[in-house]
Amino acid sequence: MFILGLTGGIASGKTTATNFFASKGIEIIDADEISRGLQLKGEAGYKQVLKEFGKDILDDADEINRSALRKIAFANKTNKAKLEEIMHPLIRSEIMQGFENIKSKWGIYSAPLWSNRNKFKRTLVINSSPHIQSQRIKERDNSSDEVIRKILADQMPYKERISFADDFISNDGSLDSFLKKLDFYFQLYDKMA
Ligand code: ATP
Repeated sequence: MFILGLTGGIASGKTTATNFFASKGIEIIDADEISRGLQLKGEAGYKQVLKEFGKDILDDADEINRSALRKIAFANKTNKAKLEEIMHPLIRSEIMQGFENIKSKWGIYSAPLWSNRNKFKRTLVINSSPHIQSQRIKERDNSSDEVIRKILADQMPYKERISFADDFISNDGSLDSFLKKLDFYFQLYDKMA
C-alpha cells in the first residue's frame, strides 16, 4: 500500500494538512494523536506517566495537563528521556496496529519526530519559520517564551529534516495558499497510489 510519511516541526501545519487529506477520505495514522490517546485518564501511558512524574501534572478533572507535563519534560534531559522511554514503545505498538487496519486507497503516517528508520513510498515535509511557529504556539497553548524557546531549540534542525523530504511545503503564508499546495500533492499521491 502507498503510505505517505508526513512530518514537520511543531505548529508547522501537520494537523491542518492531515485534516485536509482526511477530508478527501484518506486514513491517517497520527503519532501525536496516538500519544494523546494513550495519555487519557486510565490509559496505559497515563498510568505510567503519573507514576513517574506524580500528581502535579494532573488538572482538576485528573486528566494529564499537557502543558504542565511539557514543562516538567523540558525542565531537564533526564525527565525528557524518562517520558520518551514510557511513551515510545506504547506509541510504536499502536502505530503498527494502525497500519494493518488502513482501508482507504492509500494512507498517511504523520509524526513530528523523524529518522532514517521511517521509510515510506514518499515523504512530505512541512516547514514553518521559527518566528511563525512561536506565534502559533503562543496563540494555541499559552506557553511561556522560555518554554517555547526550549521546545524550538529541541526540534530537529531544518537541514536535517529536509534531508528526508521527497516533497516540501513551506507554510509561512496564508491558510488558503497552504491548502492549495496540499491539494496539488493530494492529486499527485492519489495518482501514484
Ligand atoms: P503540533 O506539532 O504542535 O501539533 P501541527 O504541526 O499539527 O502542530 P497545526 O496544528 O496544523 O500544526 O497548526 C498550528 C496552528 O497554526 C493551528 O492553530 C493552525 O490552525 C494554525 N495554522 C496552520 N497553518 C496556518 C496558516 N497557513 N495560516 C494561519 N494559521 C495556520
